[in-house]
Amino acid sequence: MNSRILLSSPHMGENERKYVKKAFDDNWIAPLGENVDKFEESIAEYVGAEGGAAALSSGTAAIHLALKMLNVGRDDIVFAPTFTFIASVNPILYQGAKPVFIDSEPDTWNMSPRALKRALVDAERNNQLPKAIIVVNLYGQMAKYDEIIALTSKYNIPIIEDAAESLGSTYKGKQSGNFGNIGIFSFNGNKIITTSGGGALVSSDQSFVKKSRFLATQARDEAPYYQHSEIGYNYRLSNISAGIGRGQMEVLPDRVEKRRTIFERYKNEFSAMPSIEMMPEVAEMMPNRWLSTLTFNDITNINEVVDVISKFNEKNIETRALWKPLHLQPLFIDTPVYFHEETSSVAEKLFNSGLCLPSGSNMSDVQQEYVINVFKNIVS
Ligand SMILES: *Cc1c(COP(=O)(O)O)cnc(C)c1O
Repeated sequence: MNSRILLSSPHMGENERKYVKKAFDDNWIAPLGENVDKFEESIAEYVGAEGGAAALSSGTAAIHLALKMLNVGRDDIVFAPTFTFIASVNPILYQGAKPVFIDSEPDTWNMSPRALKRALVDAERNNQLPKAIIVVNLYGQMAKYDEIIALTSKYNIPIIEDAAESLGSTYKGKQSGNFGNIGIFSFNGNKIITTSGGGALVSSDQSFVKKSRFLATQARDEAPYYQHSEIGYNYRLSNISAGIGRGQMEVLPDRVEKRRTIFERYKNEFSAMPSIEMMPEVAEMMPNRWLSTLTFNDITNINEVVDVISKFNEKNIETRALWKPLHLQPLFIDTPVYFHEETSSVAEKLFNSGLCLPSGSNMSDVQQEYVINVFKNIVS
């Protein structure tokens, strides 16, 4: 292979260019405009978010505004998974609030209801119940919402669904983005669809969506001059980026299909290899398989994973380690964490044995075959 095979690169459809060109022709480059409105409508419709969608500059901005909507402020506690990208939790720190980390469970790799339960019991006892809980659907796999919501509803704790990686996934037939009080998406360059950079906030509660748009445009009051009563942000998406997003929403179902097919092919090809386990499949969940991920039964140390990654690199293939758990990050050295089993962490085990394979919907059959052959050579 001459050109490098990437983990997940942008995959444009037919109409992105048309919508961007229209914005150019109308000289409607910025700030908001038709593309933003239509992009928001298409997201809300696809997801089935009754309160609508707010198009924003990033998924991180969407999480920040979601926390603002739920009144998370200084010294409040927010529960979040330890096994996720740092962007899921950085906004907790922007608000001066404090994360408490919850481990993963083995079936979905997402938030462990068992660990969550222990954390809630402790929090209630110490009078430190969380103001909100962030639940993440990693690599497009849904979390166990029935069990999680059964626990949080007892205390009336609102949920933010970080669906940055799970646009197009469903659980019991319902689209990802609808399982919390607020859902967020990312359109960063390597996600299942992209606007080159961007995000969205969705909710069944229209007031959250409207308020988010307001805060995202410097919290400008309705007045014939510039007047402000609250702290605002510059978090809106440009009309150019939204033009790309409109075209990408049209091809999203195809992108989901393609990524799922890629996962299935890896799974079939590796099924005879006893040391390989693909990310689990769970009844009633339809993951978008944003990234095809797996674990090696015979690897228990991240340094061995790094060796595998460099072997792929030599063959011009980009692979990646799974997320390094946040409770192991220097930034969070003093942050409490609740493990799935009291003394051992599922997230640590996954990090020390897992790998992400090239999964882009624009990967050709020949490229995937090449990855599979290299994989078999490296692993055997
Ligand atoms: C990508 C990602 C984000 C952040 O989205 P950006 O658009 O890059 O700010 C948040 N959470 C998860 C799980 C992500 O993968």
